[in-house]
Amino acid sequence: TSSHKHEDNPHAREEELNKAYERFEKIFTITPQRLRMITDRFVGVLEEGLQKDGQTVPMLPAYVFGWPTGDEQGSYLALDLGGTNLRVCHVVLKGAGKFEITQSKFRLTEEQKQTEGQKLFDFCADCLATFIKDHFGDQNGDVILEEELALGFTFSYPMEQDKIDHGKLVRWTKGFGNPNTEGRDCAAMFRESLDKYKLPIKMVSIINDTTGTLIASNYVNQDTRIACIFGTGCNAAYMEHMKDIPKIKHLGLPEDEEMAINCEYGAFDSFKHEHMAEIRTKYDEHIDMHSNKPHEQSYEKMIAGLYLGELFRLCICDLIDEGVLFLGQNTYKLEKTNAFDTAFLSLMELDPTEELLTVVGLFTHFFGIDTTIEERQFFRKLAKLIGTRSARLSSCGIAALVTKMGYLEKGCGVGADGSLYSKYPGFADRLHQALEDIFGEKGRNIKTYQAEDGSGVGSAIIAAMTKARKEAGKY
Ligand code: BGC
Ligand code: MG
Repeated sequence: TSSHKHEDNPHAREEELNKAYERFEKIFTITPQRLRMITDRFVGVLEEGLQKDGQTVPMLPAYVFGWPTGDEQGSYLALDLGGTNLRVCHVVLKGAGKFEITQSKFRLTEEQKQTEGQKLFDFCADCLATFIKDHFGDQNGDVILEEELALGFTFSYPMEQDKIDHGKLVRWTKGFGNPNTEGRDCAAMFRESLDKYKLPIKMVSIINDTTGTLIASNYVNQDTRIACIFGTGCNAAYMEHMKDIPKIKHLGLPEDEEMAINCEYGAFDSFKHEHMAEIRTKYDEHIDMHSNKPHEQSYEKMIAGLYLGELFRLCICDLIDEGVLFLGQNTYKLEKTNAFDTAFLSLMELDPTEELLTVVGLFTHFFGIDTTIEERQFFRKLAKLIGTRSARLSSCGIAALVTKMGYLEKGCGVGADGSLYSKYPGFADRLHQALEDIFGEKGRNIKTYQAEDGSGVGSAIIAAMTKARKEAGKY
């Protein structure tokens, strides 16, 4: 057996780690040629999604028509149900791309992600009610508001819409599994919960976080054409010409107007796994098959924050089994599913000390495991491979949208948000490098930047745009 192989031969152990690294380097490195191939396939998939309903990448019409003027004004509420947190925001739009925001954040528990759907919305309404009492209540706890507040609901899951205040959940993503919600109108479900509180609030719009990010980014930065989220999940939205959305022709909406599309491209390569077959590893397969939604969100599972820590952990577990790591130590804590947080990869990549003391601390504190300096260097390099693969694959979705819309020559702005984009070291640079690998020098015409808070501010702007449209008697 392998268990005592190199106990007193450090050179042989180092050699084994090098070999292991080479193995991972081979499977996680994505060449420029591969990026271009995936992008090409991606363009085709986006187009299919616009042609017909019910495609794997569903390209969902968002019923947000055109860009904000930048002069939207007023006081709005936004409720943001994301993958990790629930946020309640009060946003005051001041026009000229300016705004103020006050917010409260609640971390969602695993139980809340799996409980009866209506209960999840009850919790949302409850947090909202608390926020309102705290911010708009008098000493008696009575709410004092001069007029009804409009609320924008940011619901970051695929929804089929036929108007802006209605949204049928296609499927849960990001590990949510609340029963009796898929296939139902989540706007109506939330309204039912809200009604229990008799608050002077009216929900006027339900949107995806990417759509909010698209609008919020454009509000302050008018060259924004695309918005992406690289966080717990991954996805993008962009503005499409109505005439280029064949599947909604029958609605007879004005052909010369534009509408935001929530791509839901985290679903790229789902089910058949044919578009990324060449680079899908056994670790990706494992994560997919052990998720609550096997075969769904395939692209997302190779990229997003919910999964990268687990990917790292699975690699390490293989090496434990092979007797390459942690001989004679108790590794049960590390062998638990999802025990390794994606934030740990960031921390390891960021460790500024020569001895890699952050890595020392992570392994001793969370897993009760001692590490050698060679092992720590190996972990850091492995984290970099996984983080880099994520950033490089992330570029394909953007590149596909840019190609489809013909934005390469003139260039465009891409508002980006999410924990990977904003917190993972080097993510944005690696993403830009990949865009250059795909497009050559012209790749530099595509500029990504940290987006404004799309789920809060974007939701408020869209609520304002919706109100204005209603007042003008438009759809
Ligand atoms: C969801 C999208 C969302 C993305 C980022 C995905 O899992 O399906 O609706 O935009 O995560 O939050
Ligand atoms: Mg979010």
